[in-house]
Amino acid sequence: MPTLFTKILNGEIPGEILYQDEHCFAIRDINPQAPVHVLIIPKTEIEGVATVEPHGDHERLLYAARLIAEQQGLTDGYRLVINQGVQAGQTVPHLHVHLIGGRDLSWPPG
Ligand code: AMP
Repeated sequence: MPTLFTKILNGEIPGEILYQDEHCFAIRDINPQAPVHVLIIPKTEIEGVATVEPHGDHERLLYAARLIAEQQGLTDGYRLVINQGVQAGQTVPHLHVHLIGGRDLSWPPG
């Protein structure tokens, strides 16, 4: 079964695809936590960081984050978050980086 994010990529579920390359794609989060909240997702259906291999589509996630941050005008900074597993609040079992910005972000996170 394709994951929720793969279904969005394939157009089976609505979603705004902001960026796409050979390795990954990015969509707007449906429940944004900041003025900019984008999910950057490898095209390969890796469940999460806990099952990541040394090489693969996930290697491009940081570069894609940089490009999308620039595209979104986040010149004053932003935060990248990956939730791994239940205790961290991961709800979609397809690796994704949250790109959050457009407001002041407190530290430490909750
Ligand atoms: P996580 O909790 O780290 O697994 O993040 C999953 C994210 O996916 C959450 O921030 C959700 O708001 C987001 N999400 C869930 N369904 C959709 C959807 N259909 N389109 C865009 N984002 C979604």
